[in-house]
Amino acid sequence: MDFSLPAKMKSIVASIRELMASEVLPLERELAERGSFTATLPSLEAARAKVRERGLWAPQLPKEWGGMGLSLTEHARVSEELGQSPLGHFVFNCQAPDAGNMEILIQYGSDEQKRDFLGPLARGAIRSCFSMTEPDLPGSNPTWLATRAVTDGEDYVIKGHKWFTSSADGARFAVVMAVTNPDAPPHLRASQILVPLATPGMKLVRNIPVMGHTGDGWASHAEVLYENCRVPRANLLGPEGAGFVIAQERLGPGRIHHCMRWIGICERAFDLLCRRAATRQMAPGKLLGTKQIIQEWIAESRAGIDAARLMVLHAAWTIETAGLHAARESVSLIKFFVADVMGKVLDRAIQAHGALGVTDDTPLAYFYRFERAARIYDGADEVHKVAVAKRILKRYGVEGA
Ligand SMILES: Cc1cc2nc3c(=O)[nH]c(=O)nc-3n(C[C@H](O)[C@H](O)[C@H](O)COP(=O)(O)OP(=O)(O)OC[C@H]3O[C@@H](n4cnc5c(N)ncnc54)[C@H](O)[C@@H]3O)c2cc1C
Repeated sequence: MDFSLPAKMKSIVASIRELMASEVLPLERELAERGSFTATLPSLEAARAKVRERGLWAPQLPKEWGGMGLSLTEHARVSEELGQSPLGHFVFNCQAPDAGNMEILIQYGSDEQKRDFLGPLARGAIRSCFSMTEPDLPGSNPTWLATRAVTDGEDYVIKGHKWFTSSADGARFAVVMAVTNPDAPPHLRASQILVPLATPGMKLVRNIPVMGHTGDGWASHAEVLYENCRVPRANLLGPEGAGFVIAQERLGPGRIHHCMRWIGICERAFDLLCRRAATRQMAPGKLLGTKQIIQEWIAESRAGIDAARLMVLHAAWTIETAGLHAARESVSLIKFFVADVMGKVLDRAIQAHGALGVTDDTPLAYFYRFERAARIYDGADEVHKVAVAKRILKRYGVEGA
């Protein structure tokens, strides 16, 4: 087995590292000081222009849509580099939830939907959001939704209450999961419908405070009401009743992107941990790194990150070579394993920094606040663990565990 990076990827990764260092990392301080994503947007757009100039725009998108046309495993490598900053993916136009929305529009969008929604997203001219989770029903059971879309002539009329519609603030449109076929089997009841945010009846109630921060623009999570929102039936994405299937297809590669982004976060935290260990004097001439407990954190972190990366690349390779269905178990494994490694590495890095670790003078506190959610979104850890264990037990003859 060849673990080396192909020449093409070596050169791409080197260029991305350069741009991350010169254009993206310096913006972290601006974001922390301004405390607002929207206020930082002019600088972010300037960085985006540099990315376009260097031909590194939208690595995950096919070339015909202005991207680099990287495969899933290639993009995974890139995602790790970009993940080292909270702003990396946005600057390169492969941020969630837009990347997932672009992917499903490519796969299921009509010509008109591609022109009106995908084109501007791919150019980075607009943003979008994905509106599925509801406050009153468990997101862990995606077949149970209260939001309804009822046909009325040539339109759908949508009524429902959603929350954690990430990045809705300032987005041009939402991909809304709504029940269109209530009498169908559970997995065939919902559809995905494109709803412009300017549609009368669509109300952004609030950006929900997360760990004490309300956020804004792309870096926010909204509560949204759909009060009899009327959109043309032509806004249906894919076939009616296929919402669940499309969501599953979106989540497979999406989990690879997230997991490699988390590995990027781990690498950044690991680097900070080691720098701290190598520079902080605990007594004259006595470095923090001479303490065995810190050495243990470094060794455990290194092992966890390396194991996580191999697992994610293997899952990406399985999706590419054998399809999403064959990769289901690997994808579930990485979802909870990598989230756990990230939590541990971040915690150790913060601890090693003492009081500095909980300030915004390093990116550690930002990551710690906003990445705790990694164990909840895209399927809570427990859902994935149960799914994996059930599949394994089935091979041992245990049915319906
Ligand atoms: C930061 C963030 C961003 C998000 N972005 C979006 C977005 O853009 N669009 C969107 O639609 N949604 C989004 N979500 C919502 C997310 O998908 C849901 O929070 C998730 O699916 C869990 O649903 P829930 O919150 O309703 O928790 P519940 O489904 O009520 O589950 C609560 C807990 O129960 C436990 N549990 C659940 N099922 C099982 C089981 N089978 N066995 C054992 N234990 C179980 C788990 O510990 C779980 O955390 C986001 C969430 C967060 C935190």
